[in-house]
Amino acid sequence: MESFQGQTNSQGKLVVRGIGLLLSGDLAQPILDADTIIVVDGVIADIGRYSELNTENADRVVNANGTCVAPGLIDSHVHPVVGDWTPRQNQTGWIDSYLNGGVTTMISAGEVHLPGRPKDIVGLKAMAITAQRSFSIHRPGGVKVHAGAPILEQGMEEHDFKELADAGVKLLGEVGLGGVKSGAEAKQMVAWARKYGIQSTIHTGGPSIPGSSLIDADVVLEADADVIGHINGGPTALPIDQIRCLCESCTRAVEIVHNGNEVAGLYAMRTTIELDQAERISLGTDSPAGSGVQPLGILRLIAMLSSMGNVAPETVFCFATGNTARIRELNCGLIEIGRVGDFVIMDRAQHSAGDTLLDSVALGDLPGISMVIIDGVVRCRRSRNTPPAETLASLEI
Ligand SMILES: [Zn+2]
Repeated sequence: MESFQGQTNSQGKLVVRGIGLLLSGDLAQPILDADTIIVVDGVIADIGRYSELNTENADRVVNANGTCVAPGLIDSHVHPVVGDWTPRQNQTGWIDSYLNGGVTTMISAGEVHLPGRPKDIVGLKAMAITAQRSFSIHRPGGVKVHAGAPILEQGMEEHDFKELADAGVKLLGEVGLGGVKSGAEAKQMVAWARKYGIQSTIHTGGPSIPGSSLIDADVVLEADADVIGHINGGPTALPIDQIRCLCESCTRAVEIVHNGNEVAGLYAMRTTIELDQAERISLGTDSPAGSGVQPLGILRLIAMLSSMGNVAPETVFCFATGNTARIRELNCGLIEIGRVGDFVIMDRAQHSAGDTLLDSVALGDLPGISMVIIDGVVRCRRSRNTPPAETLASLEI
């Protein structure tokens, strides 16, 4: 994996200075009062004022030139298959395109688009283990793809989940995409998965493609998966009274996706915030899908939820960073000492009606990205996909 100026690993010291606005990813304090971050061997070692930190002997210095630094974005719901190819729309390089949209981590909701996907139990287990292995080694563009998410089929037994967990599988694919569709059956398998440390997500809403089926609020509640996958539909949403019921009747994560129903997404966000449970909200794209590949999907969702939902942009950024990291138990998503050095550097897009980055997002505009850093390694400079930023970050060393 080649990256800029030949840097291919996280060894050494990175100083990110000149930060004009530092978004933390943490709902409790979404904006930090600091202008510099120091990363050592890929991990955040210090955060504060440039004049007060030890910035000596840096191997690399990035100057944000007064623009915004945020934790790298996390896409909570993707459907990768192998490498940087998606058979769903027969595109290559889609993950690298998302990197250019600020995404540094992705979570698979099932490698469901593999042509001829095995549905027998030994086959589906083999495939999940293969995907987990493959993506843990191969990072397209440097993006961390957490994959290997088996689709549940009828006849799976407790020992299958133990075997998967022992082999390194940590996720279930969306419950409901395979042969397991009843609440009772799903509940048993979700519980077995949980017992062995495998996290679960359930498809919510109408069928996504011919052959899949409706999963309504009763089934979602009975199955009790860790994440209410695309609560706003993938893409067909449940009626809003059922969305309210899901928000009110359990404490599981509320995942809102780009490729869902936008009205339902806004409703789910508002309802969860009204319940004073904003920490449950997580964002994904649910892509690649019939709706395509959306390199800017997470940014678009942030701008939509903030502008149309009237929620402060710095709060909505937390839904796509710190919240997801906490829900998914990942060591990213927050600007905090000890977390990995995954950052997106951005500014207001040129000619946005908003005077600042946050104003522009609150008005519904997308930011312009000028650099993406993963594990302290610069992986992307000026984004080829966002509109141009007013001011760009620069590499000083
Ligand atoms: Zn789905």
